[in-house]
Amino acid sequence: MNIRVESLVKKYGNQRAVDGISFEVKSGEIVGFLGPNGAGKTTTMKIITCYMAASEGDVKVGNYSVREDAAAIKQCIGYLPEHNPLYLEMPVIEYLQFAASIQGVAKSNINARVREMVKVCGLDKEKHKRIDELSKGFRQRVGLAQAMIHDPEVLILDEPTTGLDPNQIVEIRELIRRVGEQKTVILSTHILPEVEATCDRIVIINDGKIVADGVPSELRKQASGAEISRVRIEEGMPNEVFQQLSSISTVELVDLSGTDNLYEVKSKQGLSSRRAIFEMCVKNQWILTELTPIERDLEDVFRNVTMG
Ligand code: ADP
Repeated sequence: MNIRVESLVKKYGNQRAVDGISFEVKSGEIVGFLGPNGAGKTTTMKIITCYMAASEGDVKVGNYSVREDAAAIKQCIGYLPEHNPLYLEMPVIEYLQFAASIQGVAKSNINARVREMVKVCGLDKEKHKRIDELSKGFRQRVGLAQAMIHDPEVLILDEPTTGLDPNQIVEIRELIRRVGEQKTVILSTHILPEVEATCDRIVIINDGKIVADGVPSELRKQASGAEISRVRIEEGMPNEVFQQLSSISTVELVDLSGTDNLYEVKSKQGLSSRRAIFEMCVKNQWILTELTPIERDLEDVFRNVTMG
C-alpha cells in the first residue's frame, strides 16, 4: 500500500510546523523519516495516521485520503506513537486483547492474533507480566505488537528505539526489519545509525520542509561531491609538504591536522589528486605511509542539509 504526502501544511498559530511537504513511500518500503528535534516529524506522522487534521494539502494511503476516509485509513495503519503510551497496570496478554478489540479485530480471531503477535515480537516469557514490570525494550515490543495487532499493511513508528540500551536497539531494529518485509513502514528518528541499519530510503525534514530524499548511498555520494583523501607523509618538513600539496593543480584545499604528518586533501570537483600526491612524494624522497579516501557519512549529509 503506497503513501503519498501531497503539499502537506500544518500550522500552529503563526508557525508552519509542516510547510508544504511532499513525498511518496512505495508499497513494501521502509523509509526513515529523519530530522532534528522540532523539525515536524511527529506532526506529519499524526496527520498520516489521522490523529490530527492537516491545515492544507492531503495524504493518500492507498486510495484513501486523510481528509475523507479517516476510519478506513486507521484500519490499514498501525501506529506506534512517540513515548509509546501503554496501560501499565494491564498484563501484556490482556492489553493486546484490548488493543485488538478496539482495532476491530473479530472476536473469534482475537486470541489467534494475540498469540501471533506474542510470537512475532518475542513476548512469550513476559506475556503474563504486568506492563509496568517490563523493561523498556519489552515495553517497546508490546507497543509494536499493539501497532500490528490488526495486521495493518502500513506501519508508522515514531522514534521506536528512543531510550533503549544498545542491545535492545539492535533487537528492536531487527524486529522492525523483519516485520517490515511485508509492510510499508515509515520510521522517524534523529539517530543516524538507525536509518542505515533499518531503512531502504531516507527522507530528511528540517524546519517543516523536505531537504533530502534518497537511498543512503546516493545521499552520501551527493554530499561528498569532491574527492577527499587522508594523506600521511613522513620525512618532509610539514610546511614544505603543505605548500607542495597545495600547489598540485587538481588540489582545492589542504588541511593540516597538526599531528603525525597527517593532511586532509580535497580535490577540485570531479578530479583526483592521488597520482600526483604519490609522484610528489617520490620526487622529494618523502615517505607516503597513508593515502585513504574519506567517505562522507550520513552525519555529514544530515549536517549539510539541516544546518546553516
Ligand atoms: P519533531 O517530531 O520533528 O520533533 P514536531 O512535529 O513535534 O517535531 O514539532 C514541530 C514544531 O511544531 C515544533 O516547533 C513544535 O514546538 C511545534 N508543535 C508541535 N506540536 C504543537 C502543538 N500541539 N501546538 C503548538 N506547537 C506545536
